[in-house]
Amino acid sequence: MDQSLSIDNNVFWDNFLKIIEDQVNSQSFNTWFKPLRLLDLNQNSIIISVPKAYFSSWLEEHYMSLLKSSSASLLDRDVTFSFIPEDKSDSGVDINMSPGTDTNASVNIFSDTVKDTSPSFLKQLSINKRFTFDSFVVGQSNQFAYAASKAVAEAPGTTAFNPLVIYGGVGLGKTHLLQAIAIHCNNSVKKSMRENKLIYVSSEKFTMDFIMSIQNNLTHEYTKYYRNTDILIVDDIQFFNNKERTQEEFFHIFNALHLQGKQIALSMDKPPSQLKGLADRLINRFQWGLVTDIQPPDFETRIAIIKKKAEADGVYLENSIAEFIAENITSNIRELEGSLIRLLAYSSLHCRDISLQMASEVLMDTIQKRYPLITIEFIQNLVDDHFSLSKNSLIGNSRRKEVAIARHIAIYLCKQLTDSSLKTIGLHFGGRDHSTVIYSINIVENKLLKDISLAAHIKTLTEKAKNS
Ligand code: ADP
Ligand code: MG
Repeated sequence: MDQSLSIDNNVFWDNFLKIIEDQVNSQSFNTWFKPLRLLDLNQNSIIISVPKAYFSSWLEEHYMSLLKSSSASLLDRDVTFSFIPEDKSDSGVDINMSPGTDTNASVNIFSDTVKDTSPSFLKQLSINKRFTFDSFVVGQSNQFAYAASKAVAEAPGTTAFNPLVIYGGVGLGKTHLLQAIAIHCNNSVKKSMRENKLIYVSSEKFTMDFIMSIQNNLTHEYTKYYRNTDILIVDDIQFFNNKERTQEEFFHIFNALHLQGKQIALSMDKPPSQLKGLADRLINRFQWGLVTDIQPPDFETRIAIIKKKAEADGVYLENSIAEFIAENITSNIRELEGSLIRLLAYSSLHCRDISLQMASEVLMDTIQKRYPLITIEFIQNLVDDHFSLSKNSLIGNSRRKEVAIARHIAIYLCKQLTDSSLKTIGLHFGGRDHSTVIYSINIVENKLLKDISLAAHIKTLTEKAKNS
């Protein structure tokens, strides 16, 4: 489940700034990021207040990938960024509140296809322009879902795949495929001039709009709007759980559309039969057409995805680096993409070419989650051996320089490679308190980027620990 949907705006903003602060130098941070204020964070977009109009273009040009990777690491979903100048007097530019400021990120499909007089709250359907069939890498894990989506996009309402239901875990490509259907249909409407009306909506927006329509006495318009479409795509149906009235409304819309042979496509995080808090009659209808899953991608598909993404960003990535990422990040594609973006951001911010060493440094914290069996004692022994120290010197009070450095390194590795708390780590190092542990970790982190020999020690020790 997408935990991040309920993330508190202030918490999000604080963490978001912290992530950025870690990745840019303090001058850039103070100049470009400190003065920003969060105006709104919603399902699809982040709206930020900037002190001057020129901030918008500067942030878009220089920091868009950093903004995106930072938000992606917190939100588990793609969002667009909009900037609103506080001081409009020097701008001379129209304020753009729509999520389209990030020009290549979203298009409004709805306005292209339908002339309509529905209430305005129903009209903001944003689609990520990147989510096409062409940019979707097909492998064993997703080929059936891909083929079915393509079939539906080419002949909506006429295949047996009605509804089309795609289910699978977070970050595996459900939204990508549903939006690819929307984009494909939208383009073919333009070509053939067929007046197919299309609605793509997340289940949250469907719910929010429904509530709003009740508040404003517009339920009739709401129902009419949804019943009037030729293609209805609803993403993340699991969020209908326990929303009984919304489910009921959706049930009637579903029936009306299905009866008329209109296409319905849905996504959910589990097979319909395992959805919790959804009415049986809805679950039953989800099984009328085709239910298909998406699995986590295999190694080859992961490599293909990384290479395709790098290519789309105009970056050449050596095979060994693509393989390194694909070997280590296995769970989902969003994480795979996030890792690549972090690596690209790091390389461009530090003006250094991407190397294997950089990849292992930058992705270390993501990768370490895979090695749950490494213990603090094991790391202590490893570090003792590596620096030829006598047993227990890390635990003792020696302030000899080489012992102190080895101790910092060992503590840092314990933080990186085990799940132990700072307190536990401190206890294993002769009862040091957690601020001493933080101090050691900071020392290593600060030196790591400048001190090649330290980086080499860390790399060797990390590899030894993981390969043990
Ligand atoms: P979900 O909706 O299942 O949580 P998304 O569709 O949002 O996942 O996918 C997460 C990210 O991974 C998106 O940026 C998407 O473009 C990318 N992605 C997922 N599957 C593929 C694929 N097969 N090929 C290329 N990119 C993919
Ligand atoms: Mg999704």
